[in-house]
Amino acid sequence: MKTERIILRKKLDFFEDVNDYFQRLSGIDMADIPAKYGSSVEDAREKAVENLEIGMVYQCDNIETAGETEVVLECQEKFTGDMPGRILKDARQVVSFVASLCGYGELAEQTEDIMEQYFLDTWGSAYVEAAQGWLGRHVLAGLKEEGMSRTHLWSPGQHQFALSNQKALFRLLKPEDIGCRLTGNLMMVPVKSASGIMGIVPEDVKDLLLPCDFCPYGAACPASKRGCAEL
Ligand code: SF4
Repeated sequence: MKTERIILRKKLDFFEDVNDYFQRLSGIDMADIPAKYGSSVEDAREKAVENLEIGMVYQCDNIETAGETEVVLECQEKFTGDMPGRILKDARQVVSFVASLCGYGELAEQTEDIMEQYFLDTWGSAYVEAAQGWLGRHVLAGLKEEGMSRTHLWSPGQHQFALSNQKALFRLLKPEDIGCRLTGNLMMVPVKSASGIMGIVPEDVKDLLLPCDFCPYGAACPASKRGCAEL
């Protein structure tokens, strides 16, 4: 894959599978919304679609060395801890990404109705997960044309991939260009943002490390290994 940094912006109605993510997060089937919620589910979604967009930045880098406690990229940036070397053991390149729901914080502050606030929050999470899932599939489709594949997606702070790796990710990607910044305690603003890495591996590599094996949901997984943005 070409080593370059790419920025994409997408309107929210681009993410056609967002209802699946929303249902997983809220338990609500958009084809059968319980009457007790009135119009708040749809109102919150309309508000999001009218006012927000997804910004994505991703970049492919060559891996110089992958050791037990750190993975060093050709640009000399490092991912550290036990997991990067395990995630990227068969990879020669790594794609880093940030996806962010631009304008979410301002819109959430303007929303006064409690029910609508709740559903705006849930739609926000659903759209970011949908964007992350789309990006994973988009990268995979490009790799398949090159006879390559990818690992699962791994996010700093989840599945034992150390949160401190956010710093390296943000230095690499400069997501400030899509309106996403990192706070002193390594949280992303807007809060409705996702970040992570995926390794690029030969198509015949099958024994990939699985996020589910490190996921707190375990057997109670609401995604049942379908529609999870990490996979
Ligand atoms: S599929 Fe379920 S268990 Fe696996 S990473 Fe996703 S949420 Fe966790």
